[in-house]
Amino acid sequence: MSTLEQNIEKLHELLARFQKDGIKNRIAGEDREGAAGKFLNTSPVDKSVICEVAQGNSDDIDAAANAAADAFADWRDMPATERRKILIRVAEAIEARAEEIALCECWDTGQALKFMSKAALRGAENFRYFADQVVQARDGQHLKSPTLMNITTRVPIGPVGVITPWNTPFMLSTWKIAPALAAGCTVIHKPAEASPLTARLLVEIAEEAGLPKGVLNTVNGFGEEAGKALCEHPKIRAIAFVGESRTGSLITKQGADTLKRNHLELGGKNPVIVFNDADLDRALDAVIFMIYSINGERCTSSSRLLVQDTIKEAFEAKLVERVNKIRVGHPLDPATVIGPLVTEEHFNKVTSYFDIAKEDGATIAAGGTTVGDEGYFVRPTLFTNANNQMRIAREEIFGPVLTAIPFSTEEEALQIANDTPYGLTGYVWTNDLTRALRFTDRLEAGMIWVNSENVRHLPTPFGGVKASGIGRDGGDWSFEFYMEQKHIGFATGQHKITQLGK
Ligand code: NAD
Repeated sequence: MSTLEQNIEKLHELLARFQKDGIKNRIAGEDREGAAGKFLNTSPVDKSVICEVAQGNSDDIDAAANAAADAFADWRDMPATERRKILIRVAEAIEARAEEIALCECWDTGQALKFMSKAALRGAENFRYFADQVVQARDGQHLKSPTLMNITTRVPIGPVGVITPWNTPFMLSTWKIAPALAAGCTVIHKPAEASPLTARLLVEIAEEAGLPKGVLNTVNGFGEEAGKALCEHPKIRAIAFVGESRTGSLITKQGADTLKRNHLELGGKNPVIVFNDADLDRALDAVIFMIYSINGERCTSSSRLLVQDTIKEAFEAKLVERVNKIRVGHPLDPATVIGPLVTEEHFNKVTSYFDIAKEDGATIAAGGTTVGDEGYFVRPTLFTNANNQMRIAREEIFGPVLTAIPFSTEEEALQIANDTPYGLTGYVWTNDLTRALRFTDRLEAGMIWVNSENVRHLPTPFGGVKASGIGRDGGDWSFEFYMEQKHIGFATGQHKITQLGK
């Protein structure tokens, strides 16, 4: 039996329970049907129905908000060392079930196992990393003034909402939920409607690892129904959101009446700039990896290649050769690089850019076609002879689609790179140190890598500028979001108090 056949067999065993029972909401440690009924979850691999999913609405959000509010004081006041132990156990349980998580994730989202097997482990790492910060998270400063001993301390903000998208949903959910729990907040998670499987696994794993009931609650459903209600709920103090930029502005509006604190991780149209003095072989590897891994459904993908005109022809020729060799196939085949796109709607969006590219006058140098009609498969695609005003250079396509744009001078490269509403990441390839310093200083992006692909390091700040987001994750930045800073001043003597009305 091939590895693919073995993986499919294992998957069928794993899916049996979802097919039988569907996915329920999980509120206060109990399964609940959705107040708005059910919706169907399908696989992008062959368009088959995976299971029924509870459709939550404002009633479910209200029940979950009450559960999260009831559970808050005990979770907040649990000794940090105890909370740490539970979170470490969650990390261990994720590791133990990494294969199950990866197989379900691939079937639900179409992402290739090659990348998803690591995503489950990165989820565990998120829990481990933030568990290790728990003990210090509440520490503040002593700031002595002439008459007062001033101290600061941090306290968890309260129950929070976490709203996540469908691309690498398990990893992204843990990235938000782990620091929130470590900070001492309780959580309501609203996973993306297109990929609910691994969110269900996460809440089960967390409860089995000892997370008290009501500390993590999962409400499935649609953004405009369950998601909106979560943003509007008065007991929810903050929303950590990952998704599209236009949804980010809805989150802000919906939370205005209840003065929500929002952390927004949004879209990108990130440039990779390749100068003619770079190590071109390594640059080529990184350019390919950063757009064709994870189906290109990755906020940090470098979807605009800015290549210096003197090397353009040779660089693009090698790129075309490599892109044409990238393997599209069943996501559970370990050799597959690109699986199907997540939904029919997203497939239609991505493939619509094949015509848009032609209408705009760009060249389709590789791909630009779909593969079979069993699922939502597309060939990895490269557009050349583009300019930065074309829609293929301005809009987030969010698929395995790269737009190459030539430039001649450093100044021109910077102007093109910054001429976008987004500002999540930038990648610069040059061996000129002074240029790298100068260029990165002026590049408008929250995260920049020089002579490297995106290598995530959890203590560093993750987030974007402009339409790519507000706020940062990682290290202590996560605790800044999930906690309130509190100042307390103690008089150290009998300082003069201004006496009024005496
Ligand atoms: P989306 O914005 O359509 O949906 C994200 C989540 O928001 C889903 O759970 C959805 O149900 C919910 N939602 C939708 N409307 C809502 C509303 N009115 N109120 C509350 N919740 C609502 O995004 P998507 O298509 O699922 O994901 C892809 C997008 O996510 C891309 O733009 C990508 O760049 C972005 N993304 C950003 C990062 C980052 O770190 N910056 C990471 C991953 C993905």
